[in-house]
Amino acid sequence: MKIAILTSGGDSAGMNAVVRAVVKVGILKGCETWVVREGYEGLVRGNTEALSEQSLDEEPVDLPDNTSPDGTSFNLIHNLRFGDGDLLKDGTGDHPGTRSLKGRYIVRVGFDDVRAWFAEGGTLIGTARSKTFRTPEGRLQAAYNMIKEGLDALVVCGGDGSLTGADVFRAEWPKLVEALQSEGRITAEKAKLHAHLRIVGLVGSIDNDMSMTDLTIGAPTALHRICEAIDNINSTATSHSRAFVLEVMGRHCGWLALLAGVSGGADFIFIPERPPTSESWEDEMCECIHRHREVGKRKTIVIVAEGATDRDLNPIKADHVKDVLTERLGLDTRVTTLGHTQRGGRPCAYDRVLPTLQGMEAVETLLEATPTSPSYMIGIQENKITRVPLMEAVAMTRAVSAAIEAKDFEKAMSYRDPEFKESFEGFLKISTLDQEKVPEEQRMRVALMHMGAPAGGMNAATRAAVRYCIRHGHTPIAVHNGFRGLLDDEVHELSWLGVDSWTARGGSELGTNRTLPSVDLDIQFVAHHGGGQETLSCFPHSNGSDTSLNALVDACDAIKQSASASRNRVFVVETQGGKCGYLATVGALATGASLVYTPEQGMDLDTLRRDVRFLKTRYKLDAKGRSEGRLVIKNEVASQVYTTDVMQKMLKEEGGTLFDARSASLGHTLQGGVPSPMDRARAVRLSLKCMAFLEREHVKLLQQPVKARHATPDSAAIITIQSSSLKWVPVQEMVAHADMQNRRGKNPWWANIKELAELLAGRPQLIGIH
Ligand code: ATP
Repeated sequence: MKIAILTSGGDSAGMNAVVRAVVKVGILKGCETWVVREGYEGLVRGNTEALSEQSLDEEPVDLPDNTSPDGTSFNLIHNLRFGDGDLLKDGTGDHPGTRSLKGRYIVRVGFDDVRAWFAEGGTLIGTARSKTFRTPEGRLQAAYNMIKEGLDALVVCGGDGSLTGADVFRAEWPKLVEALQSEGRITAEKAKLHAHLRIVGLVGSIDNDMSMTDLTIGAPTALHRICEAIDNINSTATSHSRAFVLEVMGRHCGWLALLAGVSGGADFIFIPERPPTSESWEDEMCECIHRHREVGKRKTIVIVAEGATDRDLNPIKADHVKDVLTERLGLDTRVTTLGHTQRGGRPCAYDRVLPTLQGMEAVETLLEATPTSPSYMIGIQENKITRVPLMEAVAMTRAVSAAIEAKDFEKAMSYRDPEFKESFEGFLKISTLDQEKVPEEQRMRVALMHMGAPAGGMNAATRAAVRYCIRHGHTPIAVHNGFRGLLDDEVHELSWLGVDSWTARGGSELGTNRTLPSVDLDIQFVAHHGGGQETLSCFPHSNGSDTSLNALVDACDAIKQSASASRNRVFVVETQGGKCGYLATVGALATGASLVYTPEQGMDLDTLRRDVRFLKTRYKLDAKGRSEGRLVIKNEVASQVYTTDVMQKMLKEEGGTLFDARSASLGHTLQGGVPSPMDRARAVRLSLKCMAFLEREHVKLLQQPVKARHATPDSAAIITIQSSSLKWVPVQEMVAHADMQNRRGKNPWWANIKELAELLAGRPQLIGIH
């Protein structure tokens, strides 16, 4: 199959990762892969000139050894220059040593042409909004160009407009082919060969505005950019006791504003789906912020989504919000419009892993498509990659906008995924000083403790728990330094204001302790204490994995740059993770590592020998004159014998004149730093569920006769994420599902990722090394 991919509409981080995955997986599955530059516009323009220097049909002259034993082309087109020059004006791409793409919009690409693309923001193959493609004539020309190049299938990555265009194109295809044949532009044979067009859509949109998928490609990175801005603004706002109004993107969808509000610790947010409920939003906002100031808050952050309105659909604009805060509350207020900074920058880990998995699914969907199957959109729901009929998703997305236009905000919210609604309710619980006190006898004293290694999101979780407690009339108590602190009476009550700035902080504000005291503490998870109840709550360890992945991605991007800069160099990067290979494995996928070693699979001489031969062959296949850095990711305890040091020396020795080797141990850097927005938001969600659980269990306990009261085993539970829903698992049950000795799960979801990561790097088997 000949598969082409294009990116269309507004650019988003992760689009390059999609192109990379589709090209690489396509080739691995035996397809020919092409890219269409400048979105649909490129499809309409097609190829007017042959590739400079030499025709595409010719073998590249300087790469006699570019094909693997199974025929996979690694450097099909040597040094194509993507991403430079004004291509729509037929600009250049003419750089010394590279091939110009002038006059060519549909270009065949090989495995190595897309190497390391996912570290770059935006889209290297260009995107455009094409007026011509909206016309029947434009689409006829696009169909002609596709048939001329012999293309059978099209992958479109863009927003709902682009996906609508894709569906229109596919629905019209038989008529277009017929017209081309009757005009004599294609032969009957060609018409028969191209009777059906296979199309699949991927959602590239920073707003996360597409229905039937929980996350769109580029939205997590945009959230990163917003949170970085909020974190930076927080320090100046606190210093000057100022208010800041931030306008963020989101014409029809408040996801960015909402998640930024939750993870940035904002005071008030405006989103299109849920305008303020009272008659006057000005009163509602001022009252909320006035109370925050009264308890001593020095800074105010208000987030306004681009498309926010009041209940009558009058737009709410940042400047007006600023005037209200200045005039009514006398606050020194500034407006910051983040604008296009939200789109750009290096993709975060999520926007590398998700598009890679979705790109793979897209190719599989095309290969399985039949003339009668609908065109699919690849999404993600409940943490699973999904295929949904493209037009159903587009229709559902439009339904949200229609509901907003009809002022049916309940309906608009009901069309969003459950996580959106939970996040909104969660935001209200933790950001306002409103009270919803439970009856006196149900109030608890809740102890909050951090255990184990610090993880991104621990502090955000604690902040949310504290605020929930205060709102419901419970007393939140900090236990410092884990169980040791409880023994030593290192406890104190936490306040609403005291935890205000905790969201953005890394590490553990409460202090944590890995060691268990040698004395038996005899703690029950729910224990009686004085008039109230003292309840112990633990936060799950899965928090922080996104922060660690991002730290790994940042470090590896820098390492790879240095590895490529001077000469061919392999970097052996050692990661933390104990006996669990999650970080190394998913990190390998997110950084494009060539090899990954985990404790689960271990290391032996046969594997190492094969891997050394793979690296040698791989370097021999590289384009001449191009310096390549490659990563080998190794978990810290993947082997006691083949340590990182041994690996590095061995690779250096074996690399000879082909490549050099160095090593870097990332150690504790992977734990620390600023928690990622996704970890913060997830931590808040989990934390609020924890609190609700404790309340429920407490009420159950109170219903027992006083003298016979005892906590049941299932009142000690772990909150888990199964698919996308949160589930309570009694600790004892969790123990049955975990490999407690090695401190890891028994059936990890990421088990197959290692194979995929190595496959995308051109894995040993691929080039005939076994
Ligand atoms: P964003 O969410 O960033 O706006 P988008 O994909 O929704 O991205 P649009 O400008 O709506 O952006 O669409 C991108 C392109 O898709 C259009 O310029 C046009 O070429 C094509 N397109 C959109 N709608 C249609 C349609 N109904 N018929 C044919 N082509 C369409």
